[in-house]
Amino acid sequence: MMTLAHSKRLFERGSKSLVGSVNSPVRSFNAVQTPMLFAQKANGAHVWDTDGNKYIDYIMSWGVGILGHAYKPVVDAAITAMKNGSSFGLATEREIELAEKIKQHMKSIDKVRFVSSGTEATMTAVRLARAFTGKAKIIKFDGCYHGHFDSLLVKSGSGNLTLGIPSGEGILPGYSRDTVSIPFNNVTLFKQAVEKNKNEIACVIVEPVLCNAGVILPDKEFLKILAQITKQEKIILIFDEVITGFRLSLGGAQGLFNIRPDLTCLGKIIGGGFPLAAVGGRKDIMDLLAPVGPVYQAGTLSGNPVAVAAGLKTLECLEDNKTIYKDLKKKTAELVCSIQSEVNTLGIAVTVNSIGSVFSIFFTDRSVESYKDTINTDKARYAQFFRGLCQEGILFPPSAFEACFVSASHDEAAIEKTAKAIKKTFRTMRSAR
Ligand SMILES: *Cc1c(COP(=O)(O)O)cnc(C)c1O
Repeated sequence: MMTLAHSKRLFERGSKSLVGSVNSPVRSFNAVQTPMLFAQKANGAHVWDTDGNKYIDYIMSWGVGILGHAYKPVVDAAITAMKNGSSFGLATEREIELAEKIKQHMKSIDKVRFVSSGTEATMTAVRLARAFTGKAKIIKFDGCYHGHFDSLLVKSGSGNLTLGIPSGEGILPGYSRDTVSIPFNNVTLFKQAVEKNKNEIACVIVEPVLCNAGVILPDKEFLKILAQITKQEKIILIFDEVITGFRLSLGGAQGLFNIRPDLTCLGKIIGGGFPLAAVGGRKDIMDLLAPVGPVYQAGTLSGNPVAVAAGLKTLECLEDNKTIYKDLKKKTAELVCSIQSEVNTLGIAVTVNSIGSVFSIFFTDRSVESYKDTINTDKARYAQFFRGLCQEGILFPPSAFEACFVSASHDEAAIEKTAKAIKKTFRTMRSAR
């Protein structure tokens, strides 16, 4: 039996000086009724806690780690950059290089603005859309998470969903009044919302693949219809690709589904493990940003040279490895297949959703296609499953509503070990009932 004595002590100590002993609520283990882990170090596909327990990691910094933890070329690039000064408050050549690289892979993007977090990226995108259209309202989709910006916290996914606080106290009614949230994948309700709020909608913001209420795939026509109607109604279409950008393909979800949004939000992978995110898109919209235009947005650490160096190296590694997306998809599919066959054999109520290198396991006998489907899954069973996996040295997200991420460092042995651990856990859970 593994011990978590040190993690427990740290939690006690941390709770006295940090709120809930965390700096982001998704790191709390409240939803899985188990002591919170404190990370000691990580390498490749593995993370170690402060008690010395080693896990195959599927949190991967919530999707940041596509190459694996402490990936040497990225570490070296960051160290070299840091030695030359870690922040100037002046422009650097590498920021241009990184922007050029993003443009090269995402044809919808003419110009980029780097920021430090995904939240800033979505906030800036919405501000730009409002300035460009002169309209106020936002349409978003239930269960999508777009950071913790006031207007976008309505029926939000991720930690909000995990903790059961999907709207948020402390947000002025004015902020949520102009936000219309509707079910993901529901074309009829989308059309109705556009009709009902005709000439009032600035933008539609969506995770093209919903990854913050578990993984929920878009229906074949859903994204196309969003693109069609927003174009027709002169509404700005924002793809929040903070997770899917450089995760599903070099061109993100928009490349995969062949859709050109007006604005795109990026984050997570593009910072190579450092705080870096971006908003990019059509030149006529982006040029509204100061200093060219009147929409103000700024950041002391925006485009930080260490983050940019790590991000640039990450994207270079993704470009250089010509089979990386194929390999990631193959490994993930192998794992998912093996889970699926076990589910069929045991006849247990589990649904697995996946695309590329993201997947999630839902404890339900139904298919999961919306926020409503997600919240109706069995959270207690997930918690039990999570704890069982931990005992086997496998770390899944401590929430039934978060995605699992496979990295290039998850080798065949890791995938096999994970599949075995999952089978064992399913069997233990079944016999314990
Ligand atoms: C993580 C995430 C964000 C917020 O990014 P932060 O860097 O945590 O502020 C926004 N949108 C999506 C889709 C995300 O997954």
